[in-house]
Amino acid sequence: MNLGESENILYSTQTVIKEALEKLGFGDDMFDLLKEPLRLFKVRIPVLMDNGKVHVFTGFRAQHNDAVGPTKGGVRFHPDVTEDEVKALSIWMSLKCGITDIPYGGGKGGIICDPRKMSFKELEKLSRGYVRAISQVVGPSKDIPAPDVMTNSQIMAWMLDEYSRIREFDSPGFITGKPLVLGGSHGRETATAKGVSIMIKEALIKKEIDILDAKVVIQGFGNAGSYLAKFMHEAGAKVVGISDVLGGLYDPNGLDIDFLIDRRDSFGTVTNLFKKTISNQELLEMDCDILVPAAIENQITVDNAEKIKASILVEAANGPTTLEATQILSDRGVLLIPDVLASAGGVIVSYFEWVQNNQGYYWSEEEVHEKLEKIMIRALNKIYQTHQTRGVNMRLAAYMVGVRKVAEAVKYRGWI
Ligand code: GLU
Repeated sequence: MNLGESENILYSTQTVIKEALEKLGFGDDMFDLLKEPLRLFKVRIPVLMDNGKVHVFTGFRAQHNDAVGPTKGGVRFHPDVTEDEVKALSIWMSLKCGITDIPYGGGKGGIICDPRKMSFKELEKLSRGYVRAISQVVGPSKDIPAPDVMTNSQIMAWMLDEYSRIREFDSPGFITGKPLVLGGSHGRETATAKGVSIMIKEALIKKEIDILDAKVVIQGFGNAGSYLAKFMHEAGAKVVGISDVLGGLYDPNGLDIDFLIDRRDSFGTVTNLFKKTISNQELLEMDCDILVPAAIENQITVDNAEKIKASILVEAANGPTTLEATQILSDRGVLLIPDVLASAGGVIVSYFEWVQNNQGYYWSEEEVHEKLEKIMIRALNKIYQTHQTRGVNMRLAAYMVGVRKVAEAVKYRGWI
């Protein structure tokens, strides 16, 4: 696929990083350092498939910057993974950690594969093979992987087991998003959705909308989308639209969320059970107060930004809105909670998980939620204030808050 510049997520991320650094008064040398990861590994992983043939998979691990602390970020399994995407995602992780003030730099991994077409055994071999390939460059105080698109706690468990075998000691802090029995944290599985729901509640206060009157549309019914639908429904909002890869469902009176969650498969597909569906593009333009893209990149562009009805846009997915669309929405007064803030709940609770692993003492779900809420609200307020005092849109404000910490750490270390 040939992407235009506006849809190339690495290019657009670099564009905003440059602008943010300029606004903060850093020089071109800082941009030159931060526009790409410090390290990028490309690995080849041979896997003996169930049909008796060996398939060689390609994987990546990008370590954007470790001036603040060890690098941190998920590993995605997806057929469309590219080197540029992994690079951009690692930069976003640096921003997420900077914005939320957690002591990590950004990292990200990905493997080009389609887990929907692989058996459990094949997925286990691939997960273990990836860890063998990168074991020299990752570790609890070096680079800490986690779940991302189409990876889950089972995959983290296999990766942990492989790493512990190679290192010959138990090292739960090597990876986060683990099952509870292997040192996972309460609240990690629902963390991204919890973080998004905290952001929605704060945005509703700013827009003076009562949650009981609020209509929500969520694009994507995976881990983030489905839990978010549940939390919004429980909070009294009306979830009027949801979608999966096949299409969307919309009902102005509210959808039956319990039924949809009960029937979704493990990849979040549920609309195949319905006769009357709409397209994902139609869904984004339906009437609602809050729109949450929780699926893939480049969903809101110059082509549909004018037609978005929501007054609040909360980006649960990474990179769902192009830069041109961001400006259009901002000019129209739509309150945008950018991805690097809205989706930071996952890495925040990953950080809590790692802290618990390091101290060997585990917290209750309430403690996790309370701490998560505090960090997310503090980060939102900092960004909102920057947006207002510096007269920049919410995305640029978030980048300014996030990149400042990385750049300052780089300066203190004397790298620049
Ligand atoms: N993959 C998630 C993200 O993009 C979580 C990363 C983590 O927990 O380290 O933020």
